[in-house]
Amino acid sequence: MAYLRHSALDLVNKRETKNFTPPSTKVSDYFGVNVYNNKAMQETLPPPVYKKVKAAIQNGETIEPDIADAVAAGMKTWAISKGATHYTHWFQPLTGATAEKHDGFFDVDPVNGLVMESFKGGTLVQQEPDASSFPNGGIRDTFEARGYTAWDPSSPAFIMEISSGITLCIPTIFISYTGEMLDNKGPLLKSLEAVDKAAVAVLNEYFDKDITKVTPTLGAEQEYFLVDEALFYARPDLVMCGRSVIGHAPARGQQLEDHYFGSIPTRVNNFMIDFETECQKLGMPIRTRHNEVAPGQFECAPTFGEVNVSNDQNQLMMDVMSKVAEKHHLKVLFHEKPFAGINGSGKHNNWSLGTDTGKNLLSPTSKPKENLQFLTFLVCVVKAVHDNADLLRASIASAGNDFRLGANEAPPAIMSIYLGSELTDVLNELEKNSNVKITKGDNVYLKLGISKIPAIIKDNTDRNRTSPFAFTGNKFEFRAVGSSANCAIPMMTLNLAVADALNKFKDDVEAQIKKNVKKEVAIINILRQYTIESKKICFEGNGYSEEWVAEAKKRGLNNVKTTPYALDFYVTKKSQELFERNSIMTSRELHAYHHIMLENYVKHVQIESRVLGDLALNHIIPTAIKYQSRLIDNARGLKELSLDSSAVVDTIKSISSYINTIKLNVDAMIEKRKELNNIDDVSVRAKRYCDEVKEAYFDKIRYAADKLELIVDDEDWPLVKYRELLFIK
Ligand code: ADP
Ligand code: MG
Repeated sequence: MAYLRHSALDLVNKRETKNFTPPSTKVSDYFGVNVYNNKAMQETLPPPVYKKVKAAIQNGETIEPDIADAVAAGMKTWAISKGATHYTHWFQPLTGATAEKHDGFFDVDPVNGLVMESFKGGTLVQQEPDASSFPNGGIRDTFEARGYTAWDPSSPAFIMEISSGITLCIPTIFISYTGEMLDNKGPLLKSLEAVDKAAVAVLNEYFDKDITKVTPTLGAEQEYFLVDEALFYARPDLVMCGRSVIGHAPARGQQLEDHYFGSIPTRVNNFMIDFETECQKLGMPIRTRHNEVAPGQFECAPTFGEVNVSNDQNQLMMDVMSKVAEKHHLKVLFHEKPFAGINGSGKHNNWSLGTDTGKNLLSPTSKPKENLQFLTFLVCVVKAVHDNADLLRASIASAGNDFRLGANEAPPAIMSIYLGSELTDVLNELEKNSNVKITKGDNVYLKLGISKIPAIIKDNTDRNRTSPFAFTGNKFEFRAVGSSANCAIPMMTLNLAVADALNKFKDDVEAQIKKNVKKEVAIINILRQYTIESKKICFEGNGYSEEWVAEAKKRGLNNVKTTPYALDFYVTKKSQELFERNSIMTSRELHAYHHIMLENYVKHVQIESRVLGDLALNHIIPTAIKYQSRLIDNARGLKELSLDSSAVVDTIKSISSYINTIKLNVDAMIEKRKELNNIDDVSVRAKRYCDEVKEAYFDKIRYAADKLELIVDDEDWPLVKYRELLFIK
């Protein structure tokens, strides 16, 4: 379905708005109907089985085979009652997309040949997809391409009914035959356990004996662009790379800033209500929708939830959005930077820690004692980010995010924390008060000025939107995460860093208590020490400014702008020790992960480079030559009539010069790719692809092509222009 620019534009002009009405005015009427949730489980499982499953979900208890059989039977009954004919283990390999392999529910009895509906516990718990085409980071040879998917009971099964067929999807982790975790979910689940254990230990020891579980929470704000489907298919670069590799910025971009929170175009609004309804049926509490800063850019956000489930929901939501968009002849662009010179898209990961007693550990209160607890968690997060800034940078590294970080309205590639003036004051106070003495009761806290904290609940106004990692009242917002990312990796990295900081904190406080320092004083001493040590990561100013880049350099903070270099932080000695110490990934898994990410990167740059070269040689140059020939005829005619042809001749010259630039650079880029493809070491290949293909040629070729776009007759231009793509009607 490829269109040319003009036929695509004709189609767009004829589009009729498709109105969408949700099944009921009350979301509660259909919320979660496609999820095997508590209600569905209670209806289909015998009470003892239900109890066991709940225990497995809440406390990670193992599900025995007979229980698994009973759950499978209940799930099958439920799914078939919903019209499902197939089931799939739904997993998240490191390709960046979710994966599924559908199997029919029916089975043929080997004895009597009868066909019956079947789904056993074994099939629920474990599957063996042919994994040969999933990345393995060199761990697995293709002749041993086996891998397992294993049921994750902590994320509910669901029914997918949007495209053809109705399928029961079972969230799973993906493990190689040799036992390594090679997906996004496995390490995330381990990190959730690690931070739970570390946080509960600190709480029980120093603050609160009643808490038995701490759950990291995630609310992911999803930014995206929408373009008309016909226009999308008329741009090979959007189809193949998800971003435009060529295209001159429109005369009117986002300067007027009139799009943000503006009224949503009717067609887009219908799409939003439609996909939100599908998502709500799948149990996703999507609540917020609005325009974003750039024209054609939008955002949606669900209410936060437990990280693993919220991340699964975000992955599923992206899938649902793409499928529903088809019905509205729209395409969703999740790329971090689909259009140069215009805002990119992020996925702000709002993160906090919740307890089984219903408390948010990052929420300051008016009670002094709880404030020391709050301060402990706050300072430990600051320490975690300080100590692992490079790793957090690596966790958001992708070919797409490289175009966004440090560009328009996006945080730079420098990690820093914004705390706001109130908390900065509190930490400054903590730092100054060097010899706190316990007098009576709560005085020690008051003396620290910690009682000031409640003020920040009221005053939430000085929010800094330029920080990659900002405290926003009762949670942190990791804003540097890219819009197409799977949140599992940044969330896993953050959980791991925080777990490690909390463990260290407990050790350090214990060491002081052993030396007869009073508990509260010991806690404050260690918090003070951490605050001082971590100071350089805190930055309250404008993160988008040039001054910050210079200042960060002075502070010794890294500013690693590109993915292949950032990814190296995963395999440093420090990182390997951190991952192993907290049992998140073995060195072998880390190296495999590193390898896979580098390979992904090379493939992305390779594809973009090819698409750019093809567009330049097959679309741009021939169009420019045709137009130039017309100008040459015109110049000849002018000359015959003895008229001034200098302007036309100048244009002819400019066109020649841009064509030459494109041709020379595309040829050289192709030669370079050939050379680099011979490099075996993927780390070297990725870095050289970055520096010697992407950095060396992309902008040069694009610049000349975009200049030609301005010169060549608009009628003749083959690619849909930015102004046509961006201003969706
Ligand atoms: P913004 O002003 O950045 O758009 P919102 O107030 O709309 O922020 O919230 C953004 C997201 O933060 C929402 O998804 C919300 O559910 C989530 N959020 C709120 N509290 C928490 C929390 N304790 N943990 C994780 N996410 C949270
Ligand atoms: Mg936000």
